[in-house]
Amino acid sequence: MHPTSDASPVVVPAGHGKAVRLRASEALRIVNTHGTQVVDCWAWNAYDLDEYMCMEATRVWTQRLNPALGDSFVTNRRNPILTIVDDTSPGVHDTFMAACDLRRYELLGVRGYHRNCCDNMMEGMFDIGLTPPRRNLASFNIFMNIRVQADGNTLATLPTESKPGDAITLRADMDCFVALSACPQDIVKIQGKHDNTPRDVALQIVRAGVSRAPVRGPWVPDTAQGAIG
Ligand SMILES: [Zn+2]
Repeated sequence: MHPTSDASPVVVPAGHGKAVRLRASEALRIVNTHGTQVVDCWAWNAYDLDEYMCMEATRVWTQRLNPALGDSFVTNRRNPILTIVDDTSPGVHDTFMAACDLRRYELLGVRGYHRNCCDNMMEGMFDIGLTPPRRNLASFNIFMNIRVQADGNTLATLPTESKPGDAITLRADMDCFVALSACPQDIVKIQGKHDNTPRDVALQIVRAGVSRAPVRGPWVPDTAQGAIG
């Protein structure tokens, strides 16, 4: 059974960002309304913005290149902050690629301002009265399709595989702020297969019926377990 929401959805306009506060055990449902949109996601401890969701520490915790249903994200202090408790998309998401910023668009040949995920993250947090200490943080790139190639090393940047209405639900494992950006990328073809136009997505805060499945503990090698035991 999918979690239900007790709040009407909030639209994140194409190419813009929003931030929300979640209490521990609440969840955020991110709906790919048109099925074509990549959404960048960041999270912070609600009481200390120096503690943030960390992709590098998460890969150590899960021992996966990218997260799967049931996996948790941890912070730079290795505390669980968000867990994927539901995912109706094909489950293709990314933790490798830096969120787009103005310099990225300059390098892609854009002259003048281009909206970008890093500014969207800051704007979303400013809107709720907060200033994150860092402007560039590794993001969880929801619905983004970055494929490791057969050589095990080369990456391919591809359009999202999600469909209209696909949704991922992230449970808060601590009181936290979550920022999202409906990525404004319209040059590199990461949005839907036939149309690289950024589009709206929708957010719902889920307060009831959220999975209480325990956070899976960190991976430790057998030798370390033996040493502890
Ligand atoms: Zn972006």
